[in-house]
Amino acid sequence: MSLIIFSHEDCLAHAPPPGHPERSERLQAAMAGVEQLDQPEVRQAEPADDGDLKRVHGVNYLQSLRDLDASGSLLSLDPDTYIGRGSLRAARLAAGAVCQGVDQVVRDPERAVFAVVRPPGHHAESAQAMGFCLLNSIAVAAARAAEVHGLKRVAVVDFDVHHGNGTEAILQDDSRYLFISSHQASIYPGTGDPATTKGSNIVNATLTANSGSDEFRALWTERLLPALDRFKPELILVSAGFDGHWRDPLAQLQLKDQDFFWIGEQLRQTAKAHANGRLVASLEGGYDLAAITESVVAFSEGIE
Ligand SMILES: [Zn+2]
Repeated sequence: MSLIIFSHEDCLAHAPPPGHPERSERLQAAMAGVEQLDQPEVRQAEPADDGDLKRVHGVNYLQSLRDLDASGSLLSLDPDTYIGRGSLRAARLAAGAVCQGVDQVVRDPERAVFAVVRPPGHHAESAQAMGFCLLNSIAVAAARAAEVHGLKRVAVVDFDVHHGNGTEAILQDDSRYLFISSHQASIYPGTGDPATTKGSNIVNATLTANSGSDEFRALWTERLLPALDRFKPELILVSAGFDGHWRDPLAQLQLKDQDFFWIGEQLRQTAKAHANGRLVASLEGGYDLAAITESVVAFSEGIE
């Protein structure tokens, strides 16, 4: 297998209160999937530095995270989102892993990268933690691709069952980026309705509860992959959330692990058509442990 995994055991240290769905066992379940792959290369993630984070996050917000981190106690930033000992390092490692993935595929487009990390990032806005997310890893990596590597067309594709509101807000109306998201209608965070979507570079599409595999694949085949194709991306970044899986407790899309293989394979083919193969995925949601393991195996085999 030519896939490269970036991960770090310190991503386990972020510890919301007991019973919280975004728990460290998620990462262990994901890495159990990695271990089932055929000889993946697993590399140590490094934390994103302030220069990378400041491209998308406000300096006051970053300082407030540092201040809360220094307090050492577990605090809630919103009803779902916590910061405590080790949280900021975990979030910096998550963002850093995706940035390392970008550097890697710019050097060697032939090998796709999957950042297997937590906490997730796609709900975090420029100056607002939300939805389990502290730093928007995928947006940080997109900005690095554009500003450090000079890429002119960077696509961010998000098939997590929730809308990537933070990524949308950060990338909106910047023609270097295209953001494409499919998500379940009318669930958290309540954004991403195609009828009210603003921004020339944002493509949102919703699926209804219990719609299942056929509707997911039809939506991507008929609308979203053609939009990605028209953009001719020089790099595809993927917010890979597996909470669309039928076993997931937070949503009802009823997808199967084979659907994650399928979308991975489609995205890899599009990357080969336009971007010399450059593709970097980052783990977002997914809250059933067995489903995470299966989905990581299937998706990794799709993008490999
Ligand atoms: Zn999600």
